[in-house]
Amino acid sequence: MRTNLLELDLDGLADFCGQLGEKRFRATQLFRWIHQRGASDFDAMSDLAVALRTKLKGCAFVQALPVISEHVSADGTVKWLFDVGDGNAVESVFIPEDDRGTLCVSSQAGCAVGCRFCSTGHQGFSRNLTTGEIVAQLWFAEHALRKRLATQSRVISNVVMMGMGEPLQNYTALVPALRVMLDDHGYGLSRRRVTVSTSGVVPMMDRLSQDCPVALAVSLHAPNDALRDNLVPLNRKYPLEELLDACRRYLEHAPRDFITFEYCMLDGVNDQVEHARQLIALVNPAQGVPIRCKFNLIPFNPFPASGLLRSPSAQVAMFAKVLSDAGIVTTVRKTRGDDIDAACGQLAGDVKDRTRAVERMAKQRTIVLKQVT
Ligand code: SF4
Repeated sequence: MRTNLLELDLDGLADFCGQLGEKRFRATQLFRWIHQRGASDFDAMSDLAVALRTKLKGCAFVQALPVISEHVSADGTVKWLFDVGDGNAVESVFIPEDDRGTLCVSSQAGCAVGCRFCSTGHQGFSRNLTTGEIVAQLWFAEHALRKRLATQSRVISNVVMMGMGEPLQNYTALVPALRVMLDDHGYGLSRRRVTVSTSGVVPMMDRLSQDCPVALAVSLHAPNDALRDNLVPLNRKYPLEELLDACRRYLEHAPRDFITFEYCMLDGVNDQVEHARQLIALVNPAQGVPIRCKFNLIPFNPFPASGLLRSPSAQVAMFAKVLSDAGIVTTVRKTRGDDIDAACGQLAGDVKDRTRAVERMAKQRTIVLKQVT
């Protein structure tokens, strides 16, 4: 069986080349051709010996994911929907800004966590992506964008694992993919420019801090366990106190870093002044260690099945002010690519639901609506 070389980080590729009787520096050359130059045709890799190219053709290939659709927003945001087989699709979104280009990457087809405000969560879980399928999103996007912009220079400067899926529930595939992103012979992204976003898989946060301490974002979305149990069901397994302790431990391994807390603003649900005050007490407790953090407030992108509404802008601004006045750096995420539904999970509606998520959510929605009214 031939191996897709996008599945391998540099150590993995060195082992693969070793089995072909080749030295590590050949693996480095091959890795650079693939990731830095976007090459998939071994014959184009002109500094590799013809004998090696012939061997590679017999046992390896480099293949992107088939693109189902591409949407380009008026603001330059690009969204791709990729086919990962068996009726499943995942999406990646490129967000250009003045000083950076960020790619939002998916880690799973669907998601088993089932956050109430997330359209992916409503689709249920189908399967984990492989390392190659995670890397392929970056490989394709980087080289497609270079061609489009007619440049040899790097276009994607930041990667956020915030697309479909809970990355820390796909840990074994995730870590080699992160290593490809960070490798100087790969994409050469700095540790702080690669962000893993988690809904709070505490044991895996600890492992990530040891194995590959990239920037960490935590999907918080609620300031107390009662509300978070409802909005982010994983909270029932890893409640807030455990989650925040894991954040503190993470920062011990990355002492100059901070945690980004993502907070989706839901009208009348989690957007009141009292909620902001509870958040302040969580991250700056009267007793105990404060957490170096910033808050990113996300205007909710409503979709009918959620039964939830976006907080009015004035409410978001007021909430941000309460946090800022307490000395917490707070930003409000700009909505990008509204014209192409660039928010998470909005194109891949056909992901197979193997967790009966829709049924589960319908029951949960009744509870939230009762809380709102
Ligand atoms: S917000 Fe993230 S963890 Fe929650 S359901 Fe959506 S993809 Fe999964």
